[in-house]
Amino acid sequence: MYTLIVETSTNLPNDVRRAIVKAKEQENAGTTAALALGTISKNISMADYNVSPICQDTGMPTFEIKVPVGANQIEMKKAIHEAIDKATKNGKLRPNSVDSLTGENSGNNLGPGTPIIHFEQWEKDEIDVRLILKGGGCENKNIQYSLPAEIEGLGRAGRDLDGIRKCILHSVYQAQGQGCSAGFIGVGIGGDRISSYSLAKEQLFRSVDDVNVNENLRKLEEYVMEHANQLGIGTMGFGGEATLLGCKIGALNRLPASFFVSIAYNCWAFRRLGVTLDSTTGEIKEWQYKDGDKIDFSQDKSEVTTQGKKGREVVLQAPVTEEQIRDLKVGDVVILNGTIHTGRDAIHHHLVEHDAPIDLNGQVIYHCGPVMLKDENGEWHVKAAGPTTSIREEPYQGDVMKKFGIRAVIGKGGMGPKTLKALQEHGGVYLNAIGGAAQYYADCIKKVEGVDLLEFGIPEAMWHLRVEGFAAIVTMDSHGNSLHADVDKTSLEKLSQFKEKVFK
Ligand code: SF4
Repeated sequence: MYTLIVETSTNLPNDVRRAIVKAKEQENAGTTAALALGTISKNISMADYNVSPICQDTGMPTFEIKVPVGANQIEMKKAIHEAIDKATKNGKLRPNSVDSLTGENSGNNLGPGTPIIHFEQWEKDEIDVRLILKGGGCENKNIQYSLPAEIEGLGRAGRDLDGIRKCILHSVYQAQGQGCSAGFIGVGIGGDRISSYSLAKEQLFRSVDDVNVNENLRKLEEYVMEHANQLGIGTMGFGGEATLLGCKIGALNRLPASFFVSIAYNCWAFRRLGVTLDSTTGEIKEWQYKDGDKIDFSQDKSEVTTQGKKGREVVLQAPVTEEQIRDLKVGDVVILNGTIHTGRDAIHHHLVEHDAPIDLNGQVIYHCGPVMLKDENGEWHVKAAGPTTSIREEPYQGDVMKKFGIRAVIGKGGMGPKTLKALQEHGGVYLNAIGGAAQYYADCIKKVEGVDLLEFGIPEAMWHLRVEGFAAIVTMDSHGNSLHADVDKTSLEKLSQFKEKVFK
């Protein structure tokens, strides 16, 4: 189980690698989306090489296990718990299990409901274990529809294939770049609210390359792939050609009174693998999702470069001045040097009512919950450090920036009108880093200078990190411009073009 967990966290399956290569071929050279895909490829190869987490959000470990009659599920659960604990101690998983009432992090990824383990009996002698590590950013973009419904941009969706089509297209639109697009979706039709969502997640265990045996669903999957990629959302929501990399749909019977369509959205960092085990020895007999050649992204010649891009490249040393920030425009690439400070949900909540542990005037806040390891000398090391979804801080961000004089925030997925207004009034900027590129950014961190508020847990503490060559894109500036608002508007217009009934 330990081998399966480490491999899943650090090594993307072959079908997902193929889909990412396809996205790169689809994308236009010299665009921000192409730059993002270049960073993603580099990150995948760094995770391979370092055997380190592809993304710092190692997600909710979900195991789907098929066992022969008589297999001892209690022993198997114990083995999984031990492996999870060990993988967390070794920095292969971030401590991600938080008490919902107290906010306390269990520290080892174990706790009520964590990990998720489902057993099912089958007739075979061997054991089949599949694991998915699905991060919070994309989990938050899951959505469930109850038909009939009025769908934004698409009008009335009835209880038929065409209504389902509208729900699925809308689910891709509403995710924008916040689930670290380009993404994959699993769709569950029918069932009750719970089984519909479960079915959607189960679809994510299907290989990206498989073909649906149900003719109607096959057609629908193909339709969605073609049309979702015309929405122009692109990688990270920067605008572009590659928005959706896979769509798998399943159906269950339903009650006459209910009609649910549930969508499970998964980011490009689609970490799922499986093993077939000898039920007597526990030995791995075969790996799942490793068919075909493994694409080695270290051989990828597309450089992470800003050459040919529309915006400028601006080198900044933190702390920064208001004048430097006012000079930045949407589309510029900022290369940041100096010290930056992590802050996510708990820190923002704290800063609204308390003083900051350090002087934040002119400083840069990084929305990030890193994977950290302490060595035997008590020194901290960064194992993975990509951006987290920024929109969660929307209620606090503008006030916190003004209160402490913060000039820049780095995150992913963009923020809303309240923050945009604050950036304009105060002289601030939002920098979009590439979601999931946790190895790429960890490499830019040259020193951990300290930590405050560690009592909030490792991901939520305020880490002071010295960076060199940390690249991020200006997507919201101090002149009232927001790339996120623009892409949202144009993609909604494109979505509205698919209003006409297609499936009769
Ligand atoms: S790639 Fe993005 S959505 Fe996926 S786990 Fe990482 S931060 Fe979350």
